[in-house]
Amino acid sequence: WDEQVEMAIIGSGFAGLAAGIEAIKHGCKAVTIYEKMAVYGGNSAINGGLFAAPNTPLQQQKGINDSVDIMVADQLKSGRGVADEKLLRHIASHARDALQMTIDAGAEYYPYLQQLGGHSVPRTYQTKVSCGAGITQPLLHECRKVGVTLQNRSKFEGFILTKEGAVAGIRIRYPYYFEDENSGNIVNIRASKGVLVATGGFAQNVNLRMAQDPTLTAEVGCTNAKGATGEAMLEMFRLGAVPVHLAYIQSGPWASPDEGGFGYVSNYAIFNFPHSIAVNCLTGKRFMNEIADRKTRADAELACRDAAGKPLPPIMITSYAHAKEHPTCEKVLKYGVGWKFDSLQAIAKRFNIPLQPLQQQVDEYNAYVKAGDDKQFGKSMAKAKDMYIAAPYTVVRLWPKVHYCQGGVQVNANAEVLDSNTGKAIKGLYAAGEVCGGIHGVSRLGSCSIPECMVMGMTAARSMMGA
Ligand code: ADP
Repeated sequence: WDEQVEMAIIGSGFAGLAAGIEAIKHGCKAVTIYEKMAVYGGNSAINGGLFAAPNTPLQQQKGINDSVDIMVADQLKSGRGVADEKLLRHIASHARDALQMTIDAGAEYYPYLQQLGGHSVPRTYQTKVSCGAGITQPLLHECRKVGVTLQNRSKFEGFILTKEGAVAGIRIRYPYYFEDENSGNIVNIRASKGVLVATGGFAQNVNLRMAQDPTLTAEVGCTNAKGATGEAMLEMFRLGAVPVHLAYIQSGPWASPDEGGFGYVSNYAIFNFPHSIAVNCLTGKRFMNEIADRKTRADAELACRDAAGKPLPPIMITSYAHAKEHPTCEKVLKYGVGWKFDSLQAIAKRFNIPLQPLQQQVDEYNAYVKAGDDKQFGKSMAKAKDMYIAAPYTVVRLWPKVHYCQGGVQVNANAEVLDSNTGKAIKGLYAAGEVCGGIHGVSRLGSCSIPECMVMGMTAARSMMGA
């Protein structure tokens, strides 16, 4: 052995950071987080910073009736019959505590809740910076404060096993430069209490994602950080971990074809969908419930085609009066990835949409707002009360980008990784966050990843400490 720790955590996203803090809380004296990239935080630092939890102080304050049961039921519906109810229940039951951990570390949230697609009530907090870094930065700071060691440019390459086949430690490549596969040297690290793999998904590994879903070619946009390449997950499979649901790879229906990565439009659209309409440019008509679950919407958007069958990104129309309530609106307009219009005529002209059906659609939708009942797609109008589509308007274009891998290794409610031969836990090996599979089934609901990562990271740390 070159080095020795009690707990080795691989990956510095929500799952790894939460685990580090929880480990120290439970008496761990030597925990190190190994991160292969130069910057900490992975995808966790670059998403929308949206955190769903039931029975929170904000829900109580706003008189919103919610429960673990209602949240789990929403998730099971989006999971289309193959989600892991036991794990969803475990996560929902501890989500409020995880939220509190972020607040204790200094994360700041808006004083309102959002109702995201597929959620039956408003239950989603958002960081004041509208970004996951509003959580990873405070957690990183907290890790340093309580004595978690953080080591970047440290790439996990493999496990070191005992004679009996338990995980005793890991091989790390250090100092590693992402651009050069062979940079750095191999360091053997012993981890006496276990190894937690918290390395995120594999959406940036085009070969691997195409092996699961050939439509997800290199040309399809992706919201993920470059490090989401999945090699640690593959190493767990080699060790015998059970692969689950690898082909369920989710695309974000709020992404824009006019900017790279997660971008500004994503947050803007997530906030505005409840009181906006999404319109097919060929027909001038709505084509989906704007707050259906992610898969329903991404599939509906991908079906928007021109007369020759080529992709024709739909547009989202919002009243500027409502759009400007979210800080991303200013950015979307400033960076030219969204536009302001004074009339529907101007929108129709710019996007080559037939005006008459568009006008008719807007009138029809406004009648639904008035009645509080969307007769076209059954969208919940709770968050759209009195919010008519009226001039001036803002418009963004929509096209799905690869966002999240529902698949990964199978874990139990102790965050132990299960062996495909025995069905039992692989000794010394734990996993948390997006690297795990099967929890959400076919499609994860928005804002449910942060609670999952945090709760399962904390769970793994407690399991390793025997708490
Ligand atoms: P989660 O949301 O599940 O916590 P993230 O994607 O936010 O996952 O974070 C995972 C982190 O793990 C990223 O920062 C990524 O760079 C890192 N990572 C991925 N593979 C490796 C590896 N082989 N060795 C070390 N770190 C890794």
